[in-house]
Amino acid sequence: MAEIDIRHVRKSFQNLEILKAVDLSIRTGEFIVLVGPSGCGKSTLLRMIAGLEEVTAGDIVIDGKRINDLAPRDRNLAMVFQSYALYPHMTVAGNMSYSLRLRKFAQDRIAAAIGEASRVLGLTALMERRPRALSGGQRQRVAMGRAIVREPQAFLWDEPLSNLDARLREQMRAEIKKLHRRLGTTSIYVTHDQIEAMTLADRIVAMDAGTIQQIGTPADLYDRPANLFVAGFIGSPA
Ligand code: ADP
Ligand code: MG
Repeated sequence: MAEIDIRHVRKSFQNLEILKAVDLSIRTGEFIVLVGPSGCGKSTLLRMIAGLEEVTAGDIVIDGKRINDLAPRDRNLAMVFQSYALYPHMTVAGNMSYSLRLRKFAQDRIAAAIGEASRVLGLTALMERRPRALSGGQRQRVAMGRAIVREPQAFLWDEPLSNLDARLREQMRAEIKKLHRRLGTTSIYVTHDQIEAMTLADRIVAMDAGTIQQIGTPADLYDRPANLFVAGFIGSPA
């Protein structure tokens, strides 16, 4: 598990600065939700933490170690995207075990890891199916299973539920919450869904145009929004 420190992190594409000196300290086991309008830099911040995007300036520190220059595979973080990121030609078991096979884990260790994850996620009966033979919710569970088996120090979630219908989103939200209670792994979760943010977050980070507007518990943001932007976004009366 991980304590994640984002220190004065900036990001520019060409000469356009899209993240402006972001500072954020995340405690071990905390569930942080990043909210903000489309284009404000949420995915870019997550991708920099994952190592998929270079940091223009500043430091990303995990458990006291600066990781700016580490390759993604050396970071021990797992990213969860929308469910369509599964490999269509592989079974559920194949999708879940892929990263472990790449890292040449022993067969019995792989079997134990995917067995445990499939029990946690209710996938045991579906292990030989291919993604096209699964419902949207089942696919999303496989995407989560693929992340869990790696036993990452932290989960990075980029709008994982955004292409599911409302009923399924609610159900998956509850599953993610249950999973977090069970594993207690540090999570950074991006969404533009206000209800997701309010129900999942220990703390919400409200972003706009590459800057953090407010960091606080859901109640803090609702009861004491720092400005009109946060009030409008969270839907509080201020
Ligand atoms: P969000 O996830 O909050 O919707 P993003 O982090 O995806 O926002 O994007 C933030 C801004 O950076 C947007 O204006 C987007 O167009 C721009 N951007 C993202 N990736 C690139 C890239 N590879 N090259 C140029 N601009 C990019
Ligand atoms: Mg995004």
